Amino acid sequence: MNTNLPTALLDLESHLRETTLLSSTRGLLEWDERTKMPLQGGPYRAEQIALLSGMIHQRASDARIGDWLGELEQLPLAEDRHSLHGCLVQQTRRNYEKAIKLPKSLVEEITRTTVLGQQSWVEAREHDDFAAFAPILEKIVGLKIQQAEALGYDATPYDALLDEYEPGETTSNVTRILADLREQLVPLVAAITDSANQPDSSILTRGYAADQQQQFGSRVAGLVGFDFQRGRLDTTHHPFCTDLGPHDCRITTRYDEGFFPAAFFGILHEAGHGFYELGMPDDWYGLPPGSCTSLGIHESQSRFWENMVGRGRPFWQWCLPLAAEAFPESFADLSVDQVYFAVNSVKPSLIRVEADEVTYNLHIIIRFELEQELISGQLAVSDLPDAWREKYEQYLGITPPNDADGVLQDIHWSGGMFGYFPTYALGNLYAAQFLAAMRAELGNMDQLVEQGDFQPLHDWLAKHIHQHAQRYSAAELVERATGEGLSHLPLVDYLREKLAPLYQLPASSS
Ligand code: ZN
Repeated sequence: MNTNLPTALLDLESHLRETTLLSSTRGLLEWDERTKMPLQGGPYRAEQIALLSGMIHQRASDARIGDWLGELEQLPLAEDRHSLHGCLVQQTRRNYEKAIKLPKSLVEEITRTTVLGQQSWVEAREHDDFAAFAPILEKIVGLKIQQAEALGYDATPYDALLDEYEPGETTSNVTRILADLREQLVPLVAAITDSANQPDSSILTRGYAADQQQQFGSRVAGLVGFDFQRGRLDTTHHPFCTDLGPHDCRITTRYDEGFFPAAFFGILHEAGHGFYELGMPDDWYGLPPGSCTSLGIHESQSRFWENMVGRGRPFWQWCLPLAAEAFPESFADLSVDQVYFAVNSVKPSLIRVEADEVTYNLHIIIRFELEQELISGQLAVSDLPDAWREKYEQYLGITPPNDADGVLQDIHWSGGMFGYFPTYALGNLYAAQFLAAMRAELGNMDQLVEQGDFQPLHDWLAKHIHQHAQRYSAAELVERATGEGLSHLPLVDYLREKLAPLYQLPASSS
């Protein structure tokens, strides 16, 4: 410890580090709840998590933080947000101002209700019973509106919720970017659907035992760079990645024995999140200079590995022999081109997490619109399933046959995560921008991937993204790494370049 540092800084740091011990302990309880806990453990677990959340909130809103910050903000060390201490002081100020606006009782109530909400969602989804889930969802929506009102906002309550996940981003800006994107994607989907050249997707539905998938997924994740000395892979209902310490990252997936891509690309996706978590400075774990800058940036890392790498032709040149070794009956007779085309099958479908790269963003736009209507009070929870079906017809031309594969498919709303969905689309946009910049800088990215040499990719991501944590905002990271601001064009270009040759699209429609 540097004794020349001001006492206020040492006190603030030690306070924040202790809070991180509590929040990572809560993370372990949440991880266990979603992977291992028996069903009837639920109500008591909700109490445990709510108690910890209350304690964490109390610490985050402790008046001494205001005093320490007040002192530190007078000093030169706090001036530059891009420096470690400047980032610590300025981001802690942001978090503190938010925390003191929320009453402890509201925080505890939200936590308790959303833990029960997630448990209720698991059952409702299993039994395709939206009515059983509706009462708790109504309560959650009401609590999130209270939260938005307490936090305050410029234009709409949704802004306050969005800012929790994508700091600095606004509803109006996201609406504009997604509209630009949709305008480009709709004709692309139409051209692909009309093409006579279609992949044989049935080659990925041949039968893959869950334990074999688990072994194979772990093997590939390890070869791609996931460190199993610092992480684990487990099974869950709704896959996620969580960090429980600077050297303890948990990724999860679910297995479909009749559909290879679900778990495989899910594992690559979550591993991408894991690389970011494990790539931030360990000695600042849980503090702003060691925490992710936004969920959109987090998602850019997962989508990069899942799609830009994992659904690329060079990747399958490397990976197909491994797949054929693990599943001889399902892969040995397939060519790289067959698998490459099949994993890039573009087709409107019901389930967001299994959607292709093109239609995925339409799934997000639907949720983004519906949750804004719920928060503004324009849409009642009881009308949500119908509204969901209408939008799926309108944007994707398909109607969910039931609620389990419709409005009940995502965990987010049951967990109170309103404002989260748009970060997925932002992640796709950032990922395409990073890919273009990385390609230009590395020069031989395809050859590296073909050889299974992923280290230069990790080095690029570490240098331009991971190491900076919150020292740069999402907008600043993109600008610094790519030389340009956020734009929908690199994603559109990437999709066209990949899909036009596969689907033999005429130049005019691509
Ligand atoms: Zn993700």
